[in-house]
Amino acid sequence: MPSYQAPVDDARFLLNDVFHIDRYANLRGFADATPDVVEAILSEAAKFCEDVLTPLNRVGDKEGCKRGNNASVTTPTGFKAAFKQLVEGGWIGISAPPEFGGQGLPMIMTQLVNEFLGSANLAFSMYSGLTQGAIAALITHGSAEQKALYLPKMIAGVWTGTMNLTEPHCGTDLGLIRTKAVKQVDGSYKLTGTKIFISAGEHDLADNIIHLVLARIEGAPEGTRGLSLFVVPKLLPNPDGSTGTRNAVSCGSLEEKMGIHGNATCVMNFDGATGWLIAEENRGLHAMFTMMNEARMGVGVQGLALSEVAYQNAAAYAKERLQGRALTGAKNKDKPADPIIVHPDVRRTLMTIRSFNEAARALVMWTALASDLHRRSEDEKTTQAADDHMGLLTPVIKGVLTDTGFANCVLAQQMFGGHGYIAEHGMEQFVRDARITMMYEGANGIQALDLVGRKLPKDGGRALQAFLAEVQAFIKEQGGDAAMKPYVEPLGKAVGHLQQATMWFMANALGKPDNAGAGSTDYMHMFGLVALGYMWAKMALAARDKLKAGANGSADRMNAKLITGRFFMERVLPETAAQLARIQSGAASTMELPAEQF
Ligand SMILES: Cc1cc2nc3c(=O)[nH]c(=O)nc-3n(C[C@H](O)[C@H](O)[C@H](O)COP(=O)(O)OP(=O)(O)OC[C@H]3O[C@@H](n4cnc5c(N)ncnc54)[C@H](O)[C@@H]3O)c2cc1C
Repeated sequence: MPSYQAPVDDARFLLNDVFHIDRYANLRGFADATPDVVEAILSEAAKFCEDVLTPLNRVGDKEGCKRGNNASVTTPTGFKAAFKQLVEGGWIGISAPPEFGGQGLPMIMTQLVNEFLGSANLAFSMYSGLTQGAIAALITHGSAEQKALYLPKMIAGVWTGTMNLTEPHCGTDLGLIRTKAVKQVDGSYKLTGTKIFISAGEHDLADNIIHLVLARIEGAPEGTRGLSLFVVPKLLPNPDGSTGTRNAVSCGSLEEKMGIHGNATCVMNFDGATGWLIAEENRGLHAMFTMMNEARMGVGVQGLALSEVAYQNAAAYAKERLQGRALTGAKNKDKPADPIIVHPDVRRTLMTIRSFNEAARALVMWTALASDLHRRSEDEKTTQAADDHMGLLTPVIKGVLTDTGFANCVLAQQMFGGHGYIAEHGMEQFVRDARITMMYEGANGIQALDLVGRKLPKDGGRALQAFLAEVQAFIKEQGGDAAMKPYVEPLGKAVGHLQQATMWFMANALGKPDNAGAGSTDYMHMFGLVALGYMWAKMALAARDKLKAGANGSADRMNAKLITGRFFMERVLPETAAQLARIQSGAASTMELPAEQF
């Protein structure tokens, strides 16, 4: 059975030495994140994930969820008790506003805890993850009444949330949504339609389930301009907050699927279900985007989470499994063979995964910090810059961290040889579970189009310019330092490729959009590599400074950082050259073949 140890030391290094969260003490909630509080959160979350959720991961995979009478759904053995513990620990509302019962702590803490939860048990973590997304949408767009009624219960985890977009004929193209809403005399609406693939749509973990549903009000325009967002509770709440009668929304069936068996993926039937409008009529997609952006970041974290746990198990196996001898002569002379970790190709594989994980964690934290600045700073320029950062980096984090997260699970599985293919070691479950992260919350091809088609040109390219300016300023500042050269020089080259690719799009894609479409996935991955490279340069600087200052017991870890960062710069980042060549080849050979010849 796989094991998991939450990367608490790495989290501490990023919080204290790379992002210096103590410098933000002037922001709401940050002063409360004292070293003691941060330590307690990290260690308690680690314990819960390692001891309670990790052993349940296999149980959830094997048992799956079951649909019973009354359209009820039972989660796997142990999930209910574990969810109770999650609720009692207050883990859902770490960063939620205190006026609704949250702890108000920085989002950066929530993202760390969510990574631990996802590594330990991805399917389980989705019940709380979707609730956090629904909370975010209600905070931003809900009326005062809706906030008072739903938020305290959802933040406490007594009620959970869902996101209802997808319909049988409508996935990426939300303009095709048919679920209908009819206004009633009391101001509520009756919703009728079928949603599919709804994560956590029905289960036995909470007293009530609050569905956020995109639907079209009778007479509204076609397309996305006619969509409105509704809150549709499973049990209709009484004005005092207690749960009343059953609403006309039910789980029609459970999807059988490749992975995340412990999470209920439901067909949801709305048969004249009572719902209430969130925000304005026909502004539903705008409101739902708050939840979708939150969820996209969350799914990116899932990619990292699985890559991390798969790496940990592959590294442990590589130190134990005896096969062959080192190319430079036997290392384990008293044993019949050396452990496979002596082989350079095994090392290459492990270093590839490790160098991604550490930088991806930093990238998530950098962006979570931007979300904190956006929500908590009083300075307009700061909040705008933070918003730009999140807009630009969200599709990159979703697309790159999940594509690479899945690829890394496959690499980690490969370390086990044939033992990775059988269920016993749990590696094939990581591969199966990771696969969905590339598809849901907008398939990754759509993330790439969002980056190239919407986020790059937005506000005259302001977000990209700010990103490039920050990276280039760092390169200039550190360029003269010989010790930083192995990091800064390759980063400079990769940034150059990113600029060339952007200019190529500007010159060649405005009149020929297929050039942008054909190059968008390469561009997204190039952007991701540059961002991860920048994270490595920042981490190398912090590690070097820490070593200079005496390292305080962490010299081995800091040296490992410097080595892992060098590996990334030498062996991973140069991929940007190939990506640039592919982008600059344009769309001709991609689009030439007539559709009927496929
Ligand atoms: C396990 C699971 C859980 C899910 N949970 C939820 C949930 O909780 N709530 C919810 O609402 N939905 C959920 N989904 C649905 C999920 O978000 C959609 O499956 C996803 O958005 C893709 O939609 P689709 O499957 O209809 O694919 P399609 O939209 O049909 O796309 C098929 C392929 O075509 C590509 N494509 C489509 N349009 C374009 C375009 N314009 N340009 C380029 N490429 C394009 C896509 O990238 C994709 O690769 C879940 C799905 C699964 C499998």
